[in-house]
Amino acid sequence: MIPALMPTYNRASLAFERGQGAWLWTTDGRRFLDFGSGIATSSLGHNHPALVRAIADQASRVIHVSNLYRIPEAERLAARLVDASFADSAFFCNSGAEANEGMVKMIRKTMAETGRPERYRIICFEGAFHGRTLAMLAATGNPKYLNGFGPVVDGFDHVPFNNMNAVRDAIGPQTAGILVEPIQGESGVRVANSRFLQDLRAACDENGLILGVDEVQTGMGRTGKLFAHEWTGVAPDVMSVAKGVAGGFPMGVVLAREHVARHLVPGSHGTTFGGNPLACAAGNAVLDVLLSPGFLQQVDQRGELLRSGLSEIVSEFPSVFEEVRGAGLLTGLKCVVPQAEFADACIAEALLTVNAGENVVRLAPPLIVTDSETAEAISRIRRAARRCLAAPASLPAR
Ligand SMILES: *Cc1c(COP(=O)(O)O)cnc(C)c1O
Repeated sequence: MIPALMPTYNRASLAFERGQGAWLWTTDGRRFLDFGSGIATSSLGHNHPALVRAIADQASRVIHVSNLYRIPEAERLAARLVDASFADSAFFCNSGAEANEGMVKMIRKTMAETGRPERYRIICFEGAFHGRTLAMLAATGNPKYLNGFGPVVDGFDHVPFNNMNAVRDAIGPQTAGILVEPIQGESGVRVANSRFLQDLRAACDENGLILGVDEVQTGMGRTGKLFAHEWTGVAPDVMSVAKGVAGGFPMGVVLAREHVARHLVPGSHGTTFGGNPLACAAGNAVLDVLLSPGFLQQVDQRGELLRSGLSEIVSEFPSVFEEVRGAGLLTGLKCVVPQAEFADACIAEALLTVNAGENVVRLAPPLIVTDSETAEAISRIRRAARRCLAAPASLPAR
C-alpha cells in the first residue's frame, strides 16, 4: 500500500526532532553534525535566536495579508536586497523553481515589450538544475526528470557548460537570453569559470540578450560573497534566489535590473503567498546576519579551512576520493567509491551530507558553522574514509 506521505523521495531513515546551530538530534536521541543544511537551505543553522524571534514576533502580529495591500516587511527586504546587489527591484515568491519561472517570464516579456517578440528561447547548460515545474524541467533538460510528463515546454536550448564556442553557435534569431548557475550544485558542484561568465556577459551585450543567473543555491552568502557572481566581477540582468534566503522558511526572490523588471506591470505576474509578512520577517532576520561586519569573510575563511582539510584527506585516500570542488561553504568531494558508500559511512560517523551528480558528495554546512565544528567534520570525514577502505568498495551506486 502506498504510504500516506507520497514516496517521491528515497528517505534516509533518520527523523530529527530538534537542532541547535550546526547540530541536529534524532527522535531517538542521537546527535548529528549537519553539513547538509537541508540542501544548503538552513543558512543560519538551527534554532538561531534572532531568526526564531523574528518569526515568532511576526507570527504574533500578522502572518499573511496577500499582495492586495502594502507589506512593509517586504518593502524593507526588497530595498535591502536592491541596496546589496546589482538589482533595482525584487519580486518575492515561494521556491527556487517559482523564482526561475518568474525570471524566464521577465526575460520573455522584456523581448516582447521591446519589439522582439520572436525572441523567446533561453540558452541553458548541460548539467543544469532549475527546478521541477514543467517549464523548469525543460530548462533543466535532464531526460531522467522529463520522462513521462508529456510534451516538453518549448524554448530551452542546451549547450555544454563552460564552453563559450557552443554558446556562440547556439545564439540565434529567436534567442532571448542565457540562464546559468555560477556553480552547478545538483549536478556535482561544477564551478563556472570566471572567464566563462565574463564571456557570457559580453555575448549578451553584443547580441542584445538578457543574462539570467540562477543563484538559488549559490546566493545569500553560500560562497562567501552575498552572491556568487560577485567573484567574477560580472553582473547579471536578472537573478533568482531561494534556498537559504529565509533560513529554511520557504521563500524565493527574483532580483532584476530596471530594464527587465519594468515590464512586469500589475496583473502580468503574481503569487498568493509570495512576500508575505512572515516570510519577509525571516528574510530580514537572515539578511541582518549575512550583512553584519565580517560575516561573509568568515564564510570564505571557513570554506578555505574545510577545503584545505578535505584536500589533505583526498591525498591520504586516493582510492576513496578524486578531488575537492566548490567555493565558500558549497563544497563537493568527488568520490572514487560509490557516493552512497561514503555517504553511509558519514552517517555512521554522525555527519550529514548531500549527494550530487558525478558521484560527488556535497558538504554545505550552515553559514554559522564554527572553526571547531569544521575541524570536527574533517575528522569525521577522515574516519568515514577509513570505513570505506575497510568495506568492499564494489557496491553498485544507488
Ligand atoms: C534547489 C534549486 C532549484 C529549485 O529550487 P526549489 O525551491 O526546489 O524549487 C533551482 N535552481 C537551483 C540552482 C537549485 O539548487
